[in-house]
Amino acid sequence: MNRLNNFAREKPEHSSMTTVSILGRLRMLEHVEILGNIGKELDGILYNLVDILSDDTRQSEINITSNDGEISKWLEQTFSSKQQRSITATGRFESIKAIIQASSFVNALQRQLRQHTKERLDVIFDLPADINKLNLWSFNIMEYSDPILLTLLLVFDAHDIISRYRIDIDVLKNFGRALTEGYTKFRPAYHNDYHGADVLQTTHCLLIKSSLLNVFAQIEITALLFAAAIHDYEHPGVNNNYLVKTRSDLALIYNDSSVLENHHSSSIFKLLRDKRFNIWSNMTIEEYRTFRSLVISLVLATDMANHASLVERMSTYFFFKETNGTTTVTDSKTLLQTLLHAADISNAAKPWPVYIQSAEKIMEEFFMQGDLEKIHYDDSKSTFDRESTDIAQLQIGFISHIVCPTFDVLSKVLQVDSLENTAKLISPKTTSTFPWQYDLQLNLETWRQISKEGDIQQVWLQRKPLKLNFQYLETYVEKAKNYLKKRSQQEVLLNRLPSV
Ligand SMILES: [Zn+2]
Repeated sequence: MNRLNNFAREKPEHSSMTTVSILGRLRMLEHVEILGNIGKELDGILYNLVDILSDDTRQSEINITSNDGEISKWLEQTFSSKQQRSITATGRFESIKAIIQASSFVNALQRQLRQHTKERLDVIFDLPADINKLNLWSFNIMEYSDPILLTLLLVFDAHDIISRYRIDIDVLKNFGRALTEGYTKFRPAYHNDYHGADVLQTTHCLLIKSSLLNVFAQIEITALLFAAAIHDYEHPGVNNNYLVKTRSDLALIYNDSSVLENHHSSSIFKLLRDKRFNIWSNMTIEEYRTFRSLVISLVLATDMANHASLVERMSTYFFFKETNGTTTVTDSKTLLQTLLHAADISNAAKPWPVYIQSAEKIMEEFFMQGDLEKIHYDDSKSTFDRESTDIAQLQIGFISHIVCPTFDVLSKVLQVDSLENTAKLISPKTTSTFPWQYDLQLNLETWRQISKEGDIQQVWLQRKPLKLNFQYLETYVEKAKNYLKKRSQQEVLLNRLPSV
């Protein structure tokens, strides 16, 4: 076995799909009766292979094809990494079952969402009347003012974080306002307080729409929601590549490594040193140590360069869940990181009217960076040229290569966990569906229709700053809806499931 292990470690260039294929073959061999006890040996080999697959320091790549070379280049540069990540992998392969067994039923009950959040907080904060919508996947944060403070208060209260950690409400309000200030400091078109609030609400939604509330410990849920709220704090509206390329101060401070993510996390913990903003002052030293370590690893994992590695690790986890029944291996940190990453790129998985507002803002931020690149590097072509970027193709590439694989693997994992944790589903063949699965397909189809007609550039470029003609786009949504009606939802879902 050692020989095999060494052999595999000497061949890090083996692609993940090849390794998963080996896993599949070995698993089949295990069931051949003639091999008898060899099955146990093979199990050991499988675990070794998974160890290799899940190694954070291993290089991860994604195969990206797009008609547009520039879009391919952007996807590859942004969503795959050859750098060594600084996240430690201690405690990985922690059994999810062990976590469930360790957490008592009483604790699980305490974590259940309370139904009267609105009534309680309304008294204190005079919140908008329809804030119960916060539990909906179709919630649109753009309709509210003061988004960070609003979502922070409601989500923290819904998960009992305020009472569990005896957070002083005035300090929480101070912190919320400081967070808003940080998010709006550089006035980015997209990565502002609305994006922070959106990711927090979406993470909350992912938690309550799955059975994960019963799986994670309170400190993990707290760290996840806090990381979601602060994960882009003081975002300057340009990406890591730009900061490195321009030899910015930030890139120098963090040695070109996850520059923005290091900054978001570091500046928040600096803010927390001030007692006016320290909402965690009542945590024990041990709790704070665990919390801080989790938050840092979660925020660092939002570096899009981690995307390929995360999806790969989740695919491996699903493979074991599906093929190995009760003997499951997982890493709760990976699951938390994937949830936050999914929430971070979830715009395209929301209903079109919600999604398109964010799409407009992120494209504007990209084009602003493109403008800056033109000024600094007028001899080279900008990745985000507002005059020539094919927006529909960029969105199609992003949804197909990045968003769909993330949500597909997450959905599969959540389905398997649902079976284990809630025992609500009778047959293992039954598949539960999640709202994002339908929206993703619909949005992808809509962009394809738009691309086919080739006039999105007109829609987008006729107005500066970018302003979408919603009525115009509505016709595409209708077309896409009709197209989808022809196929059953089940068929759509099956077509999108990744082959592992
Ligand atoms: Zn983000």
